[in-house]
Amino acid sequence: MRNYAPSPSLRGTTMDTVQVGKGLPALAVDVGGTNIKAGFVHENGEIEKVVILPTPPGKNKAPGVIDTIVELSDNLAESGRSARVGSVLIPGVVNDRKGIGVHSENLGWDNVPFADILTERLGYPVSVTHDVRGSGIAEYQLGYAHRFDNVVVLTIGTGIAGAIFINRQLIDGDGFAGEIGHIPVFGSNGPLCVCGQAGCLETVASAAAVAREYQRLSGIKVMGGKEVIDLALSGDTLAARIWDRATLGLAKCISQLCSIIAPEAILFAGGFSGAGDTLLNPVSEKLDSILTFQRRPEIGCSKLGAKAGLVGAALQTRTLAERLGL
Ligand SMILES: [Zn+2]
Repeated sequence: MRNYAPSPSLRGTTMDTVQVGKGLPALAVDVGGTNIKAGFVHENGEIEKVVILPTPPGKNKAPGVIDTIVELSDNLAESGRSARVGSVLIPGVVNDRKGIGVHSENLGWDNVPFADILTERLGYPVSVTHDVRGSGIAEYQLGYAHRFDNVVVLTIGTGIAGAIFINRQLIDGDGFAGEIGHIPVFGSNGPLCVCGQAGCLETVASAAAVAREYQRLSGIKVMGGKEVIDLALSGDTLAARIWDRATLGLAKCISQLCSIIAPEAILFAGGFSGAGDTLLNPVSEKLDSILTFQRRPEIGCSKLGAKAGLVGAALQTRTLAERLGL
């Protein structure tokens, strides 16, 4: 298993000048449920953000996603930016070693060998990695997580998942580990989850769930979970109640992680990580009221924020090139 001890040469890089080390020109892609973000990694390690495209429609989005990436690569080559290696981050259950999208509820695919297909279509080697693990590795190598031997980078977005590092090693469970959003925290009477269980963390604490619950109870449309947080801050009692439940769910879930793996820190990433103290304070207070003997982890927000996915994909291109001796 790869050890994610930080590379000394990469420490201390700032968000604005984030680089991934020298290497081959590369294509880095972060596929999300809503958007596909792509960047070109220059030989000097600089990541050039290229484009954000909507994720193609359709029930099974795999063919559309693959075609979009091929088109992107072709367009880049035409503009003089020819990649020689690539990396794609995708959501769902992902077998990182084999580059297979095992399952994605939101993107509607099962057992798609993305790495093999893209390597053939693009004409250069491509690796495929779980989006949250890829982002977590970026936070580990270039963000705040490197200070800890045992840390969870917990990404809250449409869903919730975590990159779990124990003794500086990423635990992936052949693609099935880190599904922290599906830890039941509100019992069998909780809301039904897309996974088939009830009361999962992400049914109350994901950005999508917070927005959905506010809309359901108020009849007022909101743009996303962040807007509900803003409403709570401005004195909206319904928004405050929903946010209180979300942060209670997060605290309950983190308390379970404390009992099982005793992380030194939990770092929030994804859409809510920009909320800062509005997220950290209630989660910390509730966690303190739950924990008894367990080691109390530091609770913080990630450094790379929304950039983590693209930076993570860029880092994976360096890892792949190194593995192949390119
Ligand atoms: Zn679930």
